[in-house]
Amino acid sequence: MAANRESHETGASDVIVVGGGVSGLVVAYRLTQKGFRVRVLERASRTGGVIASGRNDGMLWESGPNSGMDTTPLINDLLDALGIREQRADALKIADCRFIVRNGQLIPLPMSPPAFFSTPLFSTGTKLGLLREPFVARSSPESDESVAAFVLRRLGAEFLDYAIEPFVAGVFAGNPDQLSVRAAFPKLFALEQRYGGLIRGMILGARERKRQREKSKNNAKSFSFSDGMQTLTDALTRGIIAADGIVETGVKITSIARDVVDGAENRWRVSGVRADEKSAERNITYSADSVVLATPADATATLLASLKMQEADAAVQALREIPYAPVSVLITAWRREDITHPLDGFGFLVPRKENTQILGTLFSSSMFEHRTDEKHAVLTTFIGGMRRPELPERDDDALREMSERDLAALIGAQGKPLWTKISRHSRAIPQYTLGHLERVRRVDAIRPQAPGLFFCANWRGGISLSDCIKNGHQTADEVGAFAALRRRESDSSQNQS
Ligand SMILES: Cc1cc2nc3c(=O)[nH]c(=O)nc-3n(C[C@H](O)[C@H](O)[C@H](O)COP(=O)(O)OP(=O)(O)OC[C@H]3O[C@@H](n4cnc5c(N)ncnc54)[C@H](O)[C@@H]3O)c2cc1C
Repeated sequence: MAANRESHETGASDVIVVGGGVSGLVVAYRLTQKGFRVRVLERASRTGGVIASGRNDGMLWESGPNSGMDTTPLINDLLDALGIREQRADALKIADCRFIVRNGQLIPLPMSPPAFFSTPLFSTGTKLGLLREPFVARSSPESDESVAAFVLRRLGAEFLDYAIEPFVAGVFAGNPDQLSVRAAFPKLFALEQRYGGLIRGMILGARERKRQREKSKNNAKSFSFSDGMQTLTDALTRGIIAADGIVETGVKITSIARDVVDGAENRWRVSGVRADEKSAERNITYSADSVVLATPADATATLLASLKMQEADAAVQALREIPYAPVSVLITAWRREDITHPLDGFGFLVPRKENTQILGTLFSSSMFEHRTDEKHAVLTTFIGGMRRPELPERDDDALREMSERDLAALIGAQGKPLWTKISRHSRAIPQYTLGHLERVRRVDAIRPQAPGLFFCANWRGGISLSDCIKNGHQTADEVGAFAALRRRESDSSQNQS
């Protein structure tokens, strides 16, 4: 959403949030609801970050996330507060079915024990092997094991190849040999640590989650909105502005600094450049008690480096070590009659063992109602990731050809799509690789030296929308607690003088 481009060239607010993706917007919105004066500064010409939805010929497309998972009651609370609960759309029952490609065929991922034992996706050896899973010893609580090693140890190679590897490619666009199970899938790691195994953990953990009103990702409903995911970030932006917050787009923040007031460093100064309509750049500087960096890891590193504090060096280095997977997203619209597959599911994922160039495709118009009329279908295909990082840079024609060839072979998509929209994310998803939690700790180590500085973005605490929403809430609470402490300190020093 294009936001209010304010005339304030300089000005003070209680909190500045740098980055207007969903993480930054949730922090900012929550803070306005707590009574803070908030200013969001976003580099792009619109808020939402990677979230962007629209319609072509009446057909809905998403160039970022197609859906979120309703894992926490915080989501509905937020939608109620924003007045968009009515626009929430839950995924259709049909979307419970997710396909995995094996030998060029789409096979439903089994979602129940009977389906698991009858699926052609896994061999009898792998199925029987699951019976030994409860007896596999847990790893050391300090271990940092890759997702691949974890799955091989507990479930076996075929499970890795035909369930977890494609799943990891679908969620992180990542490589299970590189991702840390503890950092990327903390709940899986915790199941093993807490209950000694995944099967036991799923049964016992379900009871516990019920008590806590939380849902695991595999039991949670997928949701979006009747006009797509951007409804959420647009509503957050409107909500911030309605509460007298300021949202400025087209502002690239280039440095942050601590200002000395009355001999003490106690205000943050945030500077950057704004490109006006005629592309002439103007410098801006704002100050605030707190700053939340809701920016990707590389941008956060640049801003920390600008602090010119020796203590920041390790944090800058740690942030620069976080790899990102590149992804190109191809949204294609089809006449329904040109595709032979019934598209009766969420979509399909392709294991690396299969010989395709695409990572997978979402049946976007099957997941939710009213995305297209019944004569059409919209598909969202992902290319690249850590598996094929060289592919997303190929030119549009090459990307189109890859997607059309694989869609023809896998779901019988004949001829050319009615239209194709290509969205390129050169740094799509941060990779929580081995050592990630240690990197995050190195970043956090700067905070005692930088009171009032907070981080909230998808390079920490989870990449899913629901994690970003949860982390946004938590960060707003932390900023609130910091401000309250500051007030108490200032009250007591005034009382003493
Ligand atoms: C293609 C794709 C598909 C996805 N699909 C799903 C899905 O189906 N379900 C799901 O749950 N999650 C999905 N995700 C993940 C999820 O969408 C993201 O993790 C989440 O939206 C990230 O939000 P964010 O605010 O942390 O980061 P971003 O959206 O990256 O926002 C960061 C913002 O900071 C701004 N910025 C950067 N530098 C500066 C600067 N110097 N000054 C000012 N502003 C700056 C950027 O312009 C950007 O707007 C997907 C992600 C991608 C890329």
